[in-house]
Amino acid sequence: MENCIFCKIINKEIPSYSVYEDEDIYAFLDITQTTKGHTLVIPKKHITDIFDYDDELAAVVFSKVPKIARSMEKAFPDMQGLNMVNNNKEMAYQSVFHSHIHLIPRYTKKDDFALTFKDNGKKYTSEMMTKIAKSIQEEIE
Ligand code: AMP
Ligand code: ZN
Repeated sequence: MENCIFCKIINKEIPSYSVYEDEDIYAFLDITQTTKGHTLVIPKKHITDIFDYDDELAAVVFSKVPKIARSMEKAFPDMQGLNMVNNNKEMAYQSVFHSHIHLIPRYTKKDDFALTFKDNGKKYTSEMMTKIAKSIQEEIE
């Protein structure tokens, strides 16, 4: 897609630090390197976000993530864990609108990655939880 920075990276119009490439995906270093080895995995097909995948493309793209994760684990013996992050739409901090999965190696509790989940569980009754689950369930195609 025209004016998409990640399409330009796939087409080598913009340089990148390549990690892995095949007919379906491209993986390259995120320029910010939040932690050493911070990598982005992107489909070669331009799609905007998670809402844009059909089952087939999702199977192809996401099935290739574990082997890249494993290669990072081998490459960095001091790596203690890995966060996978996938931001979708501006509200969720997406800034490049070509779908991508962040693979962020973790080395110490004090490294530069932060993600917190506030526990709001006490605000939801069992009835509320059932209703919420059902409302999603009813929309699954
Ligand atoms: P997000 O905020 O989830 O949409 O992530 C977009 C990511 O793309 C950010 O972490 C940027 O650092 C990264 N990024 C943007 N431009 C480039 C580039 N030319 N090469 C590598 N990473 C990039
Ligand atoms: Zn694109």
